[in-house]
Amino acid sequence: MTFLETQGLTAHYGDFQALFGVDIRLEPGETVAIIGANGAGKTSLMRSLTGVLQNAPGQILHKQEKIGHLPPDTVMKRGIAMVPEGRRLFPSLTVEENLIIGGQHKGGADLGDRIGSWLARLTGSSGPMDVAACRDGSGYWTLDTVYALFPVLHERRHTPGTALSGGQQQMVAIGRALMSNPEILLCDEISLGLAPVVIRDIYAALPLIKDSGASLIVVEQDISQALRVADRVYCMMEGRITLSGRPSEISREDIHTAYFGAA
Ligand code: ATP
Repeated sequence: MTFLETQGLTAHYGDFQALFGVDIRLEPGETVAIIGANGAGKTSLMRSLTGVLQNAPGQILHKQEKIGHLPPDTVMKRGIAMVPEGRRLFPSLTVEENLIIGGQHKGGADLGDRIGSWLARLTGSSGPMDVAACRDGSGYWTLDTVYALFPVLHERRHTPGTALSGGQQQMVAIGRALMSNPEILLCDEISLGLAPVVIRDIYAALPLIKDSGASLIVVEQDISQALRVADRVYCMMEGRITLSGRPSEISREDIHTAYFGAA
């Protein structure tokens, strides 16, 4: 059964159309890369998959059920989590607090309520924090397994988000998404603005995340990085899929044309 798929997906910002009939699919256990230049529509596709950008009914299927009309919170409860472009950490909270916020989503309560009560506890310090649930949760990802994946986060667990390097912030953003124990992890440009050695460390974590049972969609502008990590690749240009296939099946010339357009 296909895990996640789009069928003729369209998306708009007001009158501006960003996606034109996009068809992609993600099978269980796969890593799929979405590549494309600035403005190709990659983020709009991710926003659509996570319910941030609403779409026409029936264009997004998760386990064969229509989810395109669902709000982000409900999509997340179905096990689809996103590492957003730009990381979006809570800057005044520490590494550990940012991670715990990701873990607060495991239960049935509304994410907004849970974050609200968590923040209230942080500022008003009334009642115990739910740290235990984030250590001994039912899924694979807990504070301990995230720290095992990124040991530097354990060293810096009491450091506020703003005091971290770009690479460490990216690790927190990935860890925070993992804390909800997603079946599907969407990563939007996780290498953006990072030094090559840091990108290497971040990308080294992806096979381990895959081994934990998650399927991945990785949005990348860096073609080489995407080809190294992906089982299948989709290339986008101007809101359309211009090429798809396994890295071993598509030539550099085809990718160049699909990415930049014909000369
Ligand atoms: P980037 O790598 O720069 O993030 P992208 O491939 O992710 O690019 P999108 O961010 O999805 O592309 O943008 C696709 C198109 O939609 C672009 O033309 C962009 O200008 C437009 N767009 C994106 N966000 C908005 C918005 N909030 N309002 C209006 N237009 C938008």
